[in-house]
Formats: sequence, structure tokens, C-alpha cells
Amino acid sequence: MERIGAHSHIRGLGLNALLEPRPHADSEGMVGQAKARKAAGLILKMVRESKIAGRAILMAGPPSSGKTAIALGMAQSLGPDVPFTMISASEVYSLSMSKTEGLTQAFRRSIGVRIKEETEIIEGEVVEIQIDRSLTGAQTTGRLTIKTLDMETVYDLGTKMIDALSKEKVIAGDVISIDRASGKINKLGRSYTRSRDYDATGADTRFVQTPSGEIQTRKEVVHTVTLHEIDVINSRTQGFLALFAGDTGEIKPELRAQIDSKVSEWREEGKAEIVPGVLFIDEVHMLDIECFSFLNRALEQELAPLVIMASNRGMARIRGTKYKSPHGLPVDLLDRVLIITTAKYEPEDIEKIIQIRCTEEDTKLTHEALNILTSMAMSTTLRYALNLISCAQVAALKRKSPGGMVDVEDLRKCYTFFLDEKRSVQWVGEGTAGLIG
Ligand code: ATP
Repeated sequence: MERIGAHSHIRGLGLNALLEPRPHADSEGMVGQAKARKAAGLILKMVRESKIAGRAILMAGPPSSGKTAIALGMAQSLGPDVPFTMISASEVYSLSMSKTEGLTQAFRRSIGVRIKEETEIIEGEVVEIQIDRSLTGAQTTGRLTIKTLDMETVYDLGTKMIDALSKEKVIAGDVISIDRASGKINKLGRSYTRSRDYDATGADTRFVQTPSGEIQTRKEVVHTVTLHEIDVINSRTQGFLALFAGDTGEIKPELRAQIDSKVSEWREEGKAEIVPGVLFIDEVHMLDIECFSFLNRALEQELAPLVIMASNRGMARIRGTKYKSPHGLPVDLLDRVLIITTAKYEPEDIEKIIQIRCTEEDTKLTHEALNILTSMAMSTTLRYALNLISCAQVAALKRKSPGGMVDVEDLRKCYTFFLDEKRSVQWVGEGTAGLIG
């Protein structure tokens, strides 16, 4: 079953060149919230013209009013290889690392390094493949011998390359090309000299001569990695595997300094460029005064992403102090943020968002069900209503409704099964009162 993220329908801010919202059909999944989207578009313009260094954005607005959706839309408008990191402020209190380490990692995850690399393409006839799968554990090792006219090269194979070779079903006698940097394998055909030994009758089998003369070529490839990925790969013996396992741990400041100077060397040599991404910090009022000081400093560094914070609080206490302040942010930080506000939705906007989500989740609602779900969203929250879509679809399929169409009865059932926040609080209150009584 496909898992659909809550914001998978957001593909940009849906603005035209004059920063006006485009009509619904062409709005990249965005609905309403025109003022906030236009403001976000203006900020993106400043980002592209490098006019926003050292500042941050604060999205202030009620719950479920699209703060995260707009931040994500901004990241997507910046380009496909621009990193977008989303954290909830309370994550920094995890026990596995210090608060500032958590924030540093989030910052470095939001800065991309676009690396241009010259890669060597090796082309030749496969003489021998040895794969040793007897090793227990995740790793398989192997060796591949490739013969070209003037040399024989032996490669030690990593799991990635073995998988690629098995997928392409490479056997001795095949002529292949290998991109050294990416490990990508292209099967070019069968060797002419060996083809007699094989019954090569496959329709798409092409006979080629054993390559002769100059067979190594170079081409340029570009890929983007984040500073955090470079940190992790260089700090753990398992390299890449540590990234997949999420085993990042704390990273030594000296190592980061080394990586930063390496990256700036690459920049000077024209081998790399920096791609500042977006760091979204939700529930920013949960950060404490130490984290805010860190943020202030980090924003001033040369390599800083665009930091977008979100809060649905008005006046709140700054954690770690006894002072109250707007959105729980200290005044020196408030001073350097541009504040974008999101407003509560009108029913027409909610109806459109529900329709977009239904298309995204392959669910059909009857006209009455759409009306009911819209008023549920108005009286509870938009997020609650959107969460009910997939539950109601399961209910509709279970009762074998024609075409799997969700009707009012499916919504009613789910509404009684699953509480929204308001009813949940009420239930707990009554439950406790009952117990005490
Ligand atoms: P919170 O304060 O609770 O974190 P939020 O303001 O960040 O809420 P979102 O999570 O962005 O709200 O919105 C809730 C859901 O509604 C998400 O699935 C989001 O993609 C969708 N949504 C919100 N606003 C819009 C919009 N203007 N256009 C399209 N989808 C939207």
C-alpha cells in the first residue's frame, strides 16, 4: 500500500511571476491563504537575490492553517535539489545528543553541496565475476575482472555494485560500461570472441567486437549532498550505512571544521557550490533560551539555510526564563525575523483542500459527505478532517459501497470511533471526574 504524506499534494507556492496566486487548476496544490503565500513568494525572491542573510521567518497562525504547507511550498519552489528539513522544536530535548548538537545537525542537513565530479567510465569485456555471498550479515563482497585490450582491471565490489550486476544479469563474456562514481552499469552487448561459447539468441542481444583502442572516457556528473551527510559519512566507519541506520550520534567540531575547509577548497576550485536550503522549526515556542542564543549565532554564520519557524501561540513564556514575550521568542531574535501570518480558513477553502486530498488519496466522496466533512473541519480542525478521509475509505470498502464511494454513514462511523482534540479532552475530564467520584 502506498503511504501518502500529509503534504504530498503541495508542489510549490502556486504564484505567477508577479507573485499573484495562480488559478486553482494551476496552483501547485495550494488553496487560499493569498497574503501569506505572496509574502512567502517575496521572501523567495530575496533568497534568490541573496538579500536575506542573517534573518529568519516566523509563520504565526492558528493550528492547521497551512504554516507547514507554505514552508514546504517555499522549499519546492527553490528547486528539486534544495534540501528541506523539518523538525519539531521539542525534538532537541532528545537524550541521545545535546540540544545544540541537535540544532547543528538540523542546520547542516539544510545546506546542500552541489558537487561536480569528473567520473571515469570503464568499458570492457567481463572476464570473471566472483561474488561471495557466504558472508553472513548485510554485506556481500565480490570481485569483478574486466578485460580491455591493453589491460585487465580487477574491481572489489560493494553490495551496491553487486546488486546492480545481478539486476543487469551480467555474466562473463558481456561487454559492459561502469561509471566509477555512481557504480551505474550499462550492458553494451556480448563479446564477439566469446559469443560462440554461448547460445546468445535473445532478441535484444547485440554482438559487439571486443573493444579496442582507447576505451576509457570521462564525463561530468553533478550530485547534491548535504553537509550533514558529508559529516556522517566521514565520522563513522560504516560510512553510508550509518546514514541509512540513522546512527549519527554527536559529531566532533574538529571534523566539521575540516569538512568546511574541504568544501570551501572545492568551491574555490569550481568543483562545488553551496545550495542553501530551508530549515523549518515547528512549535518554535518549545525552544529554550539557550537554543535561541544558538539560533541567533547560527543565523549570522556564512553558511546558513533559510530558517522558517512556526508557532500557534500568542504571548508565551520564553522557556528557561520567567519572561513572557510574543510567540515565546526572545526580543533579540524577534527583532531579526520577518513575520508572516496565516489566517483561519473559510469553508470554500476547506472544501477545496479536502477535494485535493481526496484526489491525492484516491478516495471519492459523495456530495453530502463532502459537505459534512467540511463542517466537521470547521468545528474541529482541518487536520482531523483530513485524517478521517483514509479511515472513511476503509469503512466504505468494508461495507462494499458501490465504487468504494465514501458516504455520510462512513464519516459518522469514523467520527464516533476517533475523537478530535476537543472531545478527547472532554472525555478525559469526564473520565477522571468519574473515577474521583
Ligand atoms: P500546526 O500549527 O498544527 O502545526 P499548520 O499551520 O502547520 O498546523 P499544516 O500542517 O500546514 O498546518 O496544514 C494541515 C493540513 O492541511 C496539511 O495536510 C496541509 O498540507 C493542508 N493545508 C493547509 N493549508 C493548505 C493550503 N493553503 N493549501 C493546501 N493544503 C493546505
